Amino acid sequence: MTEKSGDETVFDKAGCGVPDTYPAIGAVSRVACAALNVPRVFVSVSVSEDDVLQSCAGMSKGDVGACAELIVPEMIRAGIVKVGDLRTAKRPGLQKIAAGLNPVRAILAVPVVNEHGETIGVIAALDTKRRRFTVSNRATLSDIAAGVSGMAGLYHAAVRHLAAEAELKDAMEALPDGFVLYDKNDRLVHCNRRYREIYKESGNLRVPGVKFSDLIRQGVYAGQYPDAIGNEEEWIAQRIHEHQFPGKPIEQQLPGDRWLRIQERRTNTGGLVGFRIDVTELKRQERELSRLAWTDSLTGALNRHRFLELAEAELAHSQRHFRNVSLLMLDLDNFKMINDCHGHAAGDHVLRATCKSWQDQLRGRDLIGRLGGEEFCVLLPETRGSDVLVVAERLRQVTEQQKLSYDGEPIRVSVSIGAAEYETIADTITSVIKRADQSLYKAKSLGRNRVEASKIEG
Ligand code: GH3
Ligand code: MG
Ligand code: MG
Repeated sequence: MTEKSGDETVFDKAGCGVPDTYPAIGAVSRVACAALNVPRVFVSVSVSEDDVLQSCAGMSKGDVGACAELIVPEMIRAGIVKVGDLRTAKRPGLQKIAAGLNPVRAILAVPVVNEHGETIGVIAALDTKRRRFTVSNRATLSDIAAGVSGMAGLYHAAVRHLAAEAELKDAMEALPDGFVLYDKNDRLVHCNRRYREIYKESGNLRVPGVKFSDLIRQGVYAGQYPDAIGNEEEWIAQRIHEHQFPGKPIEQQLPGDRWLRIQERRTNTGGLVGFRIDVTELKRQERELSRLAWTDSLTGALNRHRFLELAEAELAHSQRHFRNVSLLMLDLDNFKMINDCHGHAAGDHVLRATCKSWQDQLRGRDLIGRLGGEEFCVLLPETRGSDVLVVAERLRQVTEQQKLSYDGEPIRVSVSIGAAEYETIADTITSVIKRADQSLYKAKSLGRNRVEASKIEG
């Protein structure tokens, strides 16, 4: 520690023991002992406002403090100090040195000056015998002082560098998102705690020095990336490519249906910085919005627009792979009467319950859409001929077997169904729906609560 008094810097005792933390200063004082053939050398240099490096070869730790207290003020007052026999010295400061540092008798001290010409410390050669220090001794000590000055500069730069690095790491740790830095050889330099937390299944692999490609490969086999399962090598190649040529943000799925947005950028030195933002909630909301936009709010079936879109895609897929696909048109019978007898709310209840009972009968890949009012359409991939009639008949039966009631009033409901199959390459979703619709019309005209099919062998 230092105290400022006017322009002068006065060193106090603090800083003793610093040689342990910065051994180079201790080594310099020992070298100076040998060079000047003295038993003791004291070095004190102030590297910053609150950092003083001190050493004293040939003396105890306590002597370092005494030297600082006695020699430094005298140096500040007198500049270079050269006294062959302190016992005969007249100046009070020198007398104090003689009294305080007994048995020191001779002293040669030169200032340590920084690159701006400012005195930042002192180096003093102390002898216990009376002696005459030569011009050459003084030149040697001045050279050593210049070396100490350079050393102090490097020390200061290193301290500042470490402080800046610590501050930067601190800032990275404080980030709410995952942060990672790779060098130009794609080796991990630093990542923050959040980043390791995000990659739960492979957080322990994310250590400095690890190569990105190894990290990804090991992460895949540690189960970190669910969408890589089954096509591991392709996934790894794709991810490495994205990392090598970072551009737009990408989304990444993690176990437990968690989602990340990854943003990566090359640095000027060829490294790469990356951010990982948890977008799970956003993704959930996005899905919910899509669900709302695609489904009918009363029954949960797909709405007309989405049904036709998906059905068209499924039809095209089936055509490409020469697979059968069938379609059912369903229309509740005398539904107007249900509304008239039981009220519109009861009608809604019937629509909801009936649709639910159909959904329970269908497979995951089947599509059900509400085309309007009490009219529904079901697309059955990989289903043909008699199979579609079996499904249709089952839907008809579950409809009439429902035990529905509203406000304590039992409600009976039935459905008429028209079935059609994808037949020729010229078929479109519209043409298949049209045929199913014609069958439905037939089912209605033949008395309702029945299944009719166009050109399907039963
Ligand atoms: P059909 O056997 O010939 O199909 O006779 P229907 O009475 O079912 O046929 P129609 O097309 O004449 O009537 C359909 C009724 O469905 C009329 C309409 O009020 C009712 N409807 C349409 N959408 C809804 C709805 O969302 N909720 C309720 N409660 N009723 C609806
Ligand atoms: Mg109807
Ligand atoms: Mg109708």
